[in-house]
Parts: sequence; C-alpha cells; structure tokens
Amino acid sequence: MKPDDNLASELERRGVSRRAFLKFATYAASLMALPPSAAEALAEGLAAARRQSVIWLSFQECTGCTESITRSHAPTLENLIFDFISLDYHHTLMAVSGEAAEEARLQAMAANKGKYIVVVDGSVPLDNPGYSMIAGVSNRQMLEDTLKDAYAVIAVGTCASFGGIPAAKPNPTGAVPISALTSGKPLINISGCPPIPEAMTGVISYVLSFGKLPELDHLGRPKAFFGETIHDRCYRRPFYDRGLFAEGFDDAGARQGYCLYKVGCKGPVTYNACATLKWNGGVSFPIQSGHGCLGCSEPNFWDQGGFYRPLPTPLGAMGPILAGAAVAGAALGVGAALSARNHQQAYLAAREKEKE
Ligand code: SF4
Repeated sequence: MKPDDNLASELERRGVSRRAFLKFATYAASLMALPPSAAEALAEGLAAARRQSVIWLSFQECTGCTESITRSHAPTLENLIFDFISLDYHHTLMAVSGEAAEEARLQAMAANKGKYIVVVDGSVPLDNPGYSMIAGVSNRQMLEDTLKDAYAVIAVGTCASFGGIPAAKPNPTGAVPISALTSGKPLINISGCPPIPEAMTGVISYVLSFGKLPELDHLGRPKAFFGETIHDRCYRRPFYDRGLFAEGFDDAGARQGYCLYKVGCKGPVTYNACATLKWNGGVSFPIQSGHGCLGCSEPNFWDQGGFYRPLPTPLGAMGPILAGAAVAGAALGVGAALSARNHQQAYLAAREKEKE
C-alpha cells in the first residue's frame, strides 16, 4: 500500500469487489447494532480510511484471546489483517522474532504517531517487573512506552479489562488491569474469558470506520455487545419464566433443556452477547452445551466463584412468582418480575456479605 492510498484504492488493487466490501460493512454495522442506514456511512468511512496500524501486546495471559480472535467468523481476522489493518506487532501471530520484532514495534510507533491503536490482552504484574518481561522490558514499561503516542487502547479479555484470573486472590504478582496504567488514554474493554471474536473484530471495524469509540457502558465495554445480560436473550428463558429448572446436570429437567439457574448459571448477572452471537460462527455457547454461564465477562468473576451454586434469589418463592409474571409479562410485553440489575445487585450484595 502506498503512503497516500486510502482503503478503497487498496481494496480495488487487491481485486476486492465493491459488493464484497459493502457486505462486510453491512455485517460490521449489524454487529455493532447500528441501524441499516449506518452501513453506508460505515462503508464510506472505511473506504476513506488509511490502513490502521495496530500494535498488539500480550502480558499475563493464556493466549486464549488470540486463539479466540483467529476463529472470528465474519469479519475474519484475515479480512481485518489483510484488508483493513496493519498488524505491526503481535507476539503470537507475527513472523519475525527477537530484535526484528521489537524494531517493528518501534517503527510502527514512529511512523504512526498519535494514530496507531494498541490492543492488549493479559494483565500487568506490578509487584516485581521480572514476573513478566518481553525483550528484557517489563510489561508495565512496554505498555507505558507504547501508549505514549497511541490514539486509543483496546483491552481484550477479562485479564486486560479487569485483572482476570492473574489478579484473583491471592494475586501473587500484583496483577492490575490495563485501566490502572492508561492515564486517560481512550480505552475500550472487551471482556470475556475469552471474549467473543466478533466483538473484537466488530469494535475494531467501528473504530476504523468512524474514527471514534463506540458507546460504552459504565465498565468501558461497548454497549452493542454488553448492553444486555445473557439471561435477557437466553433461549432457555421461557423455562425460567415458567419456573422449570434442571436440578442436576443429568436429571430429567436437564435432558428436557430446562433452565440451568439452580445448577449455578450466572446468566442473569452477566452482560455479554454469548446468547446471540454464540461461538464458532454461531454454532453454540456454553448454556446451549448444557453448562451454566460462569459470568466470565464480569469483574472478579473468579473470586466470586460459586460456579455451581445458585444465585441467592429466594427460589422457593420464585417459581410461582415467575409463573405469574410470565403470564402478566406476556400480556404486558415485558419479561419476568426480577430484572437483571436487581439480580446482579442481590448477587453482589450476598457475595460481599459472605466475605465479611
Ligand atoms: S438462568 Fe441461565 S440458563 Fe436459565 S434462562 Fe437465564 S441465562 Fe438461561
């Protein structure tokens, strides 16, 4: 790509048809819950954009986030890398290694001052720089150096967003989320262990097209993907509303696909798009495979624990209440009496009480 080229001319040169390009823009717009009319604006924004420089840093993590994004269905990672972004540095995916790899990072920073995006997976250990170093540089140092001239930073995964498993008690490395070190730099958290691949590619496409951050929730997560709980969209919800629950993983209720609330599902207090986007190109997600949600996209999910313990709502009273609410809800066009926020507040309050 020549320095002055925009994406439209680059894609034309590569033989990417306008039809294929518009299809990509329409899908990216739908991922971000934008109205159909926004697809055109998104396409125009992308066409006029230059190929975005992205520097991807991996700290205390398990490579699950990178594994996840390589399984993005559409837009695929290949789409993103070859057509829309210049992935100038990524420990796992880049071909070069050693000094050449570090040189690539420094060159990308110098050539794209104020314009490159930093993507981070993993938390940063603060207790001892030696706990995690790359090319002799501590994670903290590398993050602060790289962020200096960045346009924005995207934390992918729960470790980068909230500390995740490395920061779980007793947090032996003094792990912190990226937000502890970004000093006001625009930040998007795409949490999940790992995050949904389309959430990552969708957000990157949005930033490329519109040159701004998408609308975020109070935890810095894009509302398009984290605006509703899994429970809000779960296909087992009709069973919950009728008070029909599996009591074990192999009982008659489980075999009939009943709600997994009583075997510990955290879907009512977990904000993510697993129930709609699912995984592997929309094939399935944990609840569809018979296991309750663990709540992995919420802060402190590991320390909250209780993965097989039901949420602390008084279930004895809930069945009849919910059955009544389902009838009333159906008439009113609303869901059951207990809102997701109420659930979440009750859950967090109970966990806090247990700790006292
Ligand atoms: S409790 Fe879990 S399994 Fe039941 S409807 Fe909600 S999200 Fe689905």
